[in-house]
Amino acid sequence: MKNALVLGGGGFIGGHLAKRLKEEGFYVKIVDIKPNHEFWDHNLICNEYVQGDLRDPRIVEKAFEGRVYDEVYQLAADMGGAGYIFTGDNDANVMHNSALINLNVVHECAKNNVGRVFYSSSACMYPEHNQQDPNNPNCEESSAYPANPDSEYGWEKLFSERLYLAFNRNYKLNVRVARFHNIFGEFGTWMGGKEKAPAAMCRKAAETEDGGTIEVWGDGQQTRSFLHVNECVEAVLRLMRQDDFLGPVNIGSEEMVTINQLAEMAIKLSGKNIKIHNIGGQEFKDKYGFSCPVGVKGRNSDNKLYREKIGWEVSIPLIEGMKTTFDWINEQVKLQKNNG
Ligand code: NAD
Repeated sequence: MKNALVLGGGGFIGGHLAKRLKEEGFYVKIVDIKPNHEFWDHNLICNEYVQGDLRDPRIVEKAFEGRVYDEVYQLAADMGGAGYIFTGDNDANVMHNSALINLNVVHECAKNNVGRVFYSSSACMYPEHNQQDPNNPNCEESSAYPANPDSEYGWEKLFSERLYLAFNRNYKLNVRVARFHNIFGEFGTWMGGKEKAPAAMCRKAAETEDGGTIEVWGDGQQTRSFLHVNECVEAVLRLMRQDDFLGPVNIGSEEMVTINQLAEMAIKLSGKNIKIHNIGGQEFKDKYGFSCPVGVKGRNSDNKLYREKIGWEVSIPLIEGMKTTFDWINEQVKLQKNNG
């Protein structure tokens, strides 16, 4: 039996990944600061679930004890949606917490001779100046330098990518690095401020009465692409299990939409007649007490390198992923209402 360690497996992508690894027959251990996975029973996604703070080197040392791990997936990070990353209020925590986790994890991976380690970077590390034109953003892997991410979250990701690659060069640690572009789907955060745009749009459409209005932050013309978590997991495993290519490589969808188009999809799936109110500028500040956190004007995954190196590509249309996500969030909204 092969062993896999999923750090951050109590979270959204980590939970899906752990579940898949367990289904494949791996012995799966999860370590996460959360006491439980928010939606899944532990037996479904792992053999062992350990609550622990990976900022503490003693906890990370313990996490690797007892088994030699064939595959380690490092997904733990202090992160959230635009309302968490772009307001500036969480910058110090985001950088400090995630950097500490990565410094501890990479060290233990090298010390324990793990088979391979996957690190999840983000498209947020791409330079702001290449993402000003909503219709033509450049997120080719080679465009990363000179670096100029628009958030401290992105700077930490860039630092940590380099950290894992440096351990590869100096200590022969077998690493794989991917830059995720907006991963979404069922069994992820859908309320509370840390949810991402697809979940937020689905929740708003599910909660709003027929004839009502939902808010969309900014002018709604900013572009993004969104990849369903099932395809993300498949892409991660394919990257992890080939021998030659370390990355960094994009894992995302190339189906670019405006945020208003994304909201319209959620509205259509709700079957209701709902209007969009784009809120920004002073109106947003007066209502929320901080500037509207919309991020770069355009961002899209560029999958040329992944296609070339891995020979596979993502193919689920956004509307299909949005449908299963909307149905699940709609169910959560109903459950919450029924529970008072
Ligand atoms: P998530 O927040 O659901 O999962 C992260 C997990 O890390 C959480 O369960 C959290 O409890 C855990 N964690 C945080 N601090 C910890 C600590 N000190 N010790 C132990 N565990 C800790 O996020 P996700 O969407 O599943 O993202 C997984 C990874 O992918 C993250 O590194 C994230 O930065 C990266 N990423 C995600 C997206 C996306 O669209 N979801 C995009 C780009 C990059």
